[in-house]
Amino acid sequence: MDLKNHIRPVPDYPKPGILFYDISTLLAHPEAWHETIERLAAIIAKEKPDVLAGIESRGFLLAAPLALRLGLGFIMVRKKGKLPGKTIPYSYDLEYGSDTIEIQEDAIKPGQRVVMLDDLLATGGTMEAAVALLRQAGADVRMAACIIELNFLKGREKLAGLPVTTLIQYD
Ligand code: IMP
Repeated sequence: MDLKNHIRPVPDYPKPGILFYDISTLLAHPEAWHETIERLAAIIAKEKPDVLAGIESRGFLLAAPLALRLGLGFIMVRKKGKLPGKTIPYSYDLEYGSDTIEIQEDAIKPGQRVVMLDDLLATGGTMEAAVALLRQAGADVRMAACIIELNFLKGREKLAGLPVTTLIQYD
């Protein structure tokens, strides 16, 4: 099955000139979504992770079913202020300004093997920050996995040596 046929490119979203790759059409197609999860599960299982980390919000859509499928726990990497209790924050620079993500303080035990999930890898800035946060918490980050990769933005290079798995690429 060519999963690319189930991605909807949306021109001029969220700003004029941006071509947004929408996974809603993939989620709405049971066979294509099942295949997406099965393909990622097979690759991720080889890393023998202890836990999966999903990046808010579309990363949750992947990490939750994959964690169930692989019999693992799932932790949420969220925007600042959304998680109760003590958290570990990590701030990173954006093109204009900065952003902060966080996990709960007890989400990771030192040395746990983690695979990171998001829907799409663009510049790699979001994934880089999430990986840095998990490492700060003591995680042994093994892999970043996404459905889509925008090759021309070279996000993979930003992740310097971390294995990256994507199912669909755009040049
Ligand atoms: P990056 O930080 O530049 O790699 O951007 C990746 C983040 O932005 C991910 O969390 C994506 O969910 C989101 N994103 C950027 N472009 C798209 C797109 O075309 N479709 C869906 N999500 C996108």
